[in-house]
Amino acid sequence: MNFEKAEFESAAGLLNQLPDSTVPEIVFSGRSNVGKSSLINKVLNRKSLARTSAKPGKTGTINFYKTPDCRLVDLPGYGYARVSHSEKLRWAELVEGYFHAQRKIGLVVQIIDMRHQPTEDDLHMIDFLLHSGLPFVVAATKSDKLKKTERETQLQLLNEIFKQQLEFIPFSAVNGEGVEEIRARITAVCSK
Ligand code: GDP
Repeated sequence: MNFEKAEFESAAGLLNQLPDSTVPEIVFSGRSNVGKSSLINKVLNRKSLARTSAKPGKTGTINFYKTPDCRLVDLPGYGYARVSHSEKLRWAELVEGYFHAQRKIGLVVQIIDMRHQPTEDDLHMIDFLLHSGLPFVVAATKSDKLKKTERETQLQLLNEIFKQQLEFIPFSAVNGEGVEEIRARITAVCSK
């Protein structure tokens, strides 16, 4: 797939704003500030297609990017404490509505922070994915921030928590670790 051809398509804050499901969709999910925008930009080799910020919790919409064969779907980051209760409910309704809308979801890239234990919300999301039957991979990002032994310990811990049921792709938007692997997964879906 030609990753550099991705373009912003639309943003949906309400379920009735979702674009028609016509092409396979690659969904990016993760808690606010996990590094989701950085991962998307790195994978697409674009500086700032997806908005990165040091201020978490700012995007409450599902953002769609189109490529020649696929659509990339950037879900709003979850778990940011300083968002109002009603905003959290709207997020949940939007994201659940998206996943239940019988769309052509080709792959979900679930992003977690490799340095930390998964949050309650991460566990909830991964549990949902495991039960949904949707194809997904877990990108463990910010790998550049860990020393070799810390990294091994974290990966071992993650495998214990998820009982070896998941596949983790160590990722870094800083040194590019994992980029080719994520691209290969996306290409496999988009070039079908
Ligand atoms: P988002 O809210 O999930 O979209 O997160 P961002 O992509 O905006 O990243 C949040 C913060 O983490 C920013 O300060 C990024 O520079 C930083 N960050 C993101 N990915 C990485 C990474 O792989 N390594 C390091 N060291 N920092 C990262």
